[in-house]
Amino acid sequence: MTRDDALRLDAQDPLAPLREQFALPEGKIYLDGNSLGALPKATPERVRLAIEQEWGTDLIESWNKAGWIDAPRRLGDRLAPLIGARPGEVLVADSTSINLYKVLHAALSLQQGQRKKVVSERSNFPTDLYIADSVVRAHGGELVLVDSPDEIPALLDERCAVLMLTHVHYRTGRMHDMALLTRWAHQAGALTIWDLAHSAGAVPVDLLGSAADFAVGCGYKYLNGGPGAPAFVWVHPRHLGLSYQPLSGWLGHAQPFAFNPFYQPAAGIQQYQCGTPVVLGMAALECGLAVFEGAQALGGMAALRAKSLALTNLFMEELEARVPEARIVTPREAAQRGSQVSFSLSGELSGAAYAVVQALIGRGVVGDYRAGDPKRLDAEPHLLRFGFTPLYTRHVDAFDAVQHLVDVLATQAWKAPQFQTQNKVT
Ligand SMILES: *Cc1c(COP(=O)(O)O)cnc(C)c1O
Repeated sequence: MTRDDALRLDAQDPLAPLREQFALPEGKIYLDGNSLGALPKATPERVRLAIEQEWGTDLIESWNKAGWIDAPRRLGDRLAPLIGARPGEVLVADSTSINLYKVLHAALSLQQGQRKKVVSERSNFPTDLYIADSVVRAHGGELVLVDSPDEIPALLDERCAVLMLTHVHYRTGRMHDMALLTRWAHQAGALTIWDLAHSAGAVPVDLLGSAADFAVGCGYKYLNGGPGAPAFVWVHPRHLGLSYQPLSGWLGHAQPFAFNPFYQPAAGIQQYQCGTPVVLGMAALECGLAVFEGAQALGGMAALRAKSLALTNLFMEELEARVPEARIVTPREAAQRGSQVSFSLSGELSGAAYAVVQALIGRGVVGDYRAGDPKRLDAEPHLLRFGFTPLYTRHVDAFDAVQHLVDVLATQAWKAPQFQTQNKVT
């Protein structure tokens, strides 16, 4: 592959026009949309309208007039097609951590105390484990963590209440087979919770087709909702009305404006709302979702997935050909990877991952660093992580990013003192 080949792929790319919908800084190669998605050009004007007109002028009337009160359901309906759900099944609210708390409680209570074991991966995103630990304690249950997905089937037994997994792994980018694992869990009488933080907007997801039970995910990653954007929660319709989430706030009440002193849960997914929605965050997220609706005419999620695989494949092939120190941890098998590529550096460079990422950022190539486990660095090394959002990443970006890495290593630019001190957010 030459740089001209990459440019040719971009010239032939039917999704290329989507990049125009994002305000990307000139000269920056942004490969961190898996952590904070880029800014859609429509967002500033929409948020300005929400502030100046809806808030500033219309004030409290906007709850009705601008539909603020319905935003969690309206955005949920717009998000639903991206995750294989139907309108009316998804709610946009709170954060992923909080939504996980709700659905794990709901799932455990559906098991009526008969089963108390929650199975997950030790390398799952820590907030998922922290929340699970807390919920499991409250239910007198047990959190069982596996070191490898291969250990999961043996744990799906008559004591297993819930299998709680992140669909695409935040460190490695490895993707689980949602339909298969859900089937195995159901055969054992267990329920499934899927965290779609690195899936929604990145890979096609089929929650209903997989017969999954519960799902949560982020608004600020591949959905481009902006920093701290509200998250989402989905519950399979067969559980709605039977399962209850414990954060019984007034907006999950059947009649919030009856101001009744007794809680009566709303029907359907509405019960998963707790309090007042973050209206400004909703306005921004709606612009992120609109980009996906515009992409529908260009082939939608299927076309985005094909491009994402082409980008991650190009990046991995160039890495393998030109950076012998790179140890790629992301699966080469297309069906087993999301939309990111992660790798460690071998030998003398194994401790330099953070500094190398900083040196790349210094050159305008933005990825991120995920620390390994210092006690088990062989099994869990420090990683350099690069996300490939197919909405706005070009083939030439993947190509140039590798060239920059080659330069940073060859010149040892990463050794400069300013790249050694760790920031609060890595
Ligand atoms: C990003 C991410 C989160 C973030 O949770 P917040 O509550 O939004 O901070 C949770 N889980 C996974 C798997 C993630 O990747």
